[in-house]
Amino acid sequence: MLTAIKKDGTWITLPEKLPAALLLRLRRSGKYYCPSCRTEMSIKAGRVRIPHFAHKNNHSCRASSEPESAYHLSGKRKLYQWFLAHDYQVELEAYLPEIKKRPDILATIGDDRYAVEFQCSTISEGEFIERTKAYRSMGIRTIWILAAKRLKRKNKHEFLLSDFQWLFVTGSCRHPFLWMFCPESNQLSVLKNLTPFSPRTVFAEMTTASLKFLPPHKLLPRKCSSFPFLPAWRYKRKSWCQHVVKTARRGDPFFEALYLHRMAAATIPVELGIPVKGMLLIKTASIEWQAWLYMDVFGKKKLGERVYLKDVTRHFRKRAKNGQIKYRALPLLQERPLDYPLLQYLRLLEKMGYISELAEGEFTMEKHMSVPFSGEENLMLERKFYHEHKLTIEKGNIQFNEQ
Ligand SMILES: [Zn+2]
Repeated sequence: MLTAIKKDGTWITLPEKLPAALLLRLRRSGKYYCPSCRTEMSIKAGRVRIPHFAHKNNHSCRASSEPESAYHLSGKRKLYQWFLAHDYQVELEAYLPEIKKRPDILATIGDDRYAVEFQCSTISEGEFIERTKAYRSMGIRTIWILAAKRLKRKNKHEFLLSDFQWLFVTGSCRHPFLWMFCPESNQLSVLKNLTPFSPRTVFAEMTTASLKFLPPHKLLPRKCSSFPFLPAWRYKRKSWCQHVVKTARRGDPFFEALYLHRMAAATIPVELGIPVKGMLLIKTASIEWQAWLYMDVFGKKKLGERVYLKDVTRHFRKRAKNGQIKYRALPLLQERPLDYPLLQYLRLLEKMGYISELAEGEFTMEKHMSVPFSGEENLMLERKFYHEHKLTIEKGNIQFNEQ
C-alpha cells in the first residue's frame, strides 16, 4: 500500500522515489499503521522496489491484498495522478470503514462516487462480486481495470480471456467492453466489439491511448460502427469443424447428440455457428448452442410449420438447466437479458429467409438448413452461404451504445 496513518491520525502517502535520507527521516519520525486493521506497518523501499507500506506481522488484513506487485503499486499511483492532473477529487487507497474496504482510488465526480480498482492478481468470482456489491451498497460505482500485461493476444483481433478476465466486462450486452491499463507504457486500453467464439477465445477490437492524451471523461469507448471479424470467424469455424473431434471428450453429450442426429462436426450445417449480438451472455460456443437449437427445434420442423420464440427459449433454458449450455457470470453488465441473443439469432435467420414472422414471437419455417453429406460439400455450402449473407450477418452484429 502507498498510504498509512500515523499515531496522531494524519495520513501519509509515500512518494514515487524515496531517497535514503528521506527514508531514514520517515522511519525515525514515528510509527505507521494500517487504516483498516490498525496494526503497525513498516516502510519497504529498496533500489528496485517501489516504496510502499507493508503490515509488520504478516497477518491477514481484510482491506489489503498483499503482497502487492510493483506493477500494481505503480499502476494505481499513475491512475491516481491522472485523475488529479485533470482536477478530479480523488483519494488514493481511501479507507471506507462502513464496508471495511480500500479501493485503489476513490473518485468523486459531481454527485457520483467511483471506486477504481486496478486489479493485477486473480481473485475469486465471489470476491469480485462481493467487493462490487459492497461499493454499490454505499452508492459507489466500481470501475474495474485489468492489468494489461495479463492479456493474452493471439493476433490483431483474437484474444484469450479467462473466466476471471471476463468478470471485468462492463457496459451493456449490446455494447460490452473492458478496460486495461499498463503502468509500464502508461497506456489505457479498451477491448470492445467483444465477439466470443468459444468460452475463452474472443474476437475484439483493442484501442489504446496514452494517459497523457486521454482525459478521464473520455474513458467510455465510442460505439462500434463495423463488424470486422467475419473472415477470421469463418476461418475459426472451419477449423473447429475439421479439428474439434480430436480434442473432444469421450462421451461428451454434445457430440453424442450430434451423432444421434446423424451429424458430425465436419458436416454441421453452415447456419449453425454464426455470430449474433449479445451472445457473450452465453459461455458455450455459438456453434454448440445453435446446434442444440437445431436438434431441439429447427431440424424437426417441416416447411410451413410454426416456430414459436417461447418454444425456442424453453428448449434453450432446459439445456442450460442440464448444464449442456452455460451462461457467463458478467456481474458488471447493466442487465443480462438472457433471451436477447436467441432473439438476435431468430432475427438473422429471418433476414436470411429461413423463417418469416407471422406475429410477435411466432414464425413459420420457410427454408431448411442444409445438412451436407461430406466435409467437402460443407465447405462448398459454406462459401455459398457467406457469399449470400455476409452483409446481413455483419450488419446484424454491429454493436452500438443505445444510451
Ligand atoms: Zn491492515
